[in-house]
Amino acid sequence: MSGTLLCYPNLNQVLRNSPLFSGIDLSSAETDMQNWLVRDISAGQILLSPSLDNTDLLVLLEGEWVVTLSANSNRPIAKIMPGGCVGELSILDSQRPSSHVLATQDSRYLVIQRDALWPFITCYPVVALNLLRIMADRSRDKSELLESSLGLLHEYRTRAETDTLTSLHNRNWLMEIFPQQLDLSMRIGQPLSLILIDVDFFKRVNDTYGHTVGDQVLQHLAAIMQGNLRSTDLLARYGGEEFAVMMPATYANKARASAERLCRRVYKSPLLLPDNDQITISVSIGVAECLPGWKLDDLLNASDQALYIAKNNGRNQVQCWKNPF
Ligand code: GH3
Ligand code: MG
Ligand code: MG
Repeated sequence: MSGTLLCYPNLNQVLRNSPLFSGIDLSSAETDMQNWLVRDISAGQILLSPSLDNTDLLVLLEGEWVVTLSANSNRPIAKIMPGGCVGELSILDSQRPSSHVLATQDSRYLVIQRDALWPFITCYPVVALNLLRIMADRSRDKSELLESSLGLLHEYRTRAETDTLTSLHNRNWLMEIFPQQLDLSMRIGQPLSLILIDVDFFKRVNDTYGHTVGDQVLQHLAAIMQGNLRSTDLLARYGGEEFAVMMPATYANKARASAERLCRRVYKSPLLLPDNDQITISVSIGVAECLPGWKLDDLLNASDQALYIAKNNGRNQVQCWKNPF
């Protein structure tokens, strides 16, 4: 159907509850509205889209629409019911719509063309105030949706970067953050060290006490490390029973001192079991300081070589990488 508003018998009933016409005596406004058009649209059709020009304010008379930020989003920012309107922003700023509006039911709606709206607002200034309220509500809905989307994004990202067993950062995080820190330290000419920590004979712990106790050992160690490193140190679970710490603004001798303190602390902090048994744990640690021109791989290799020496030398100790050249 397409026709003028006069053909629409339920007009007063619908518009009486419309926020756009709030404060207007509709019976006296009828003559000012007589040239406004009424149109139909089928369910599934698009009314407004950022890729289409729009010069009309559309007021829903029957049916239902949804407003979404993208064409195939299943998270509407608003549901439009009879009396609600869309298109107000394009009317005011002469830009294309900022959102998508889709008919979710066969609908009938009123079309107020921009050229017809201004004279109407001149006669009924309260409509300008109503439009302002409608836009403020819509903008609040959009902000809330964006805020909750950002919250979700943050949650997904945190989950993807956190080790579920120890709650430390995981290797994904390390591979993103460590190179950035390395680049920054090299650019500003600051020293940077990296330590690799590997639990000694951890397989034996699993074999003797079971995997669950093995997991508790890893959690216990994570807590000791967190409590004994500086807030500027970047700690991550690097692999199964290996941890890595990047230490910005730290020369090898300082990193070595921290590593030795940590090594002693771990050895002196056995995991207490419920039956009063306790497991003494030791770690071996490799330390390396970043040389000019190194990438993360070079630094990890150097720390790993030092760790290998610590293991071969009898474990429960710290070794520093030495430049063979
Ligand atoms: P080394 O002193 O030479 O490092 O000996 P190790 O036994 O610690 O080293 P190895 O590489 O032989 O064994 C590491 C073990 O760590 C094997 C693996 O099952 C165990 N492991 C790795 N990740 C986990 C985990 O998340 N939980 C538990 N419980 N065990 C793990
Ligand atoms: Mg290992
Ligand atoms: Mg080990």
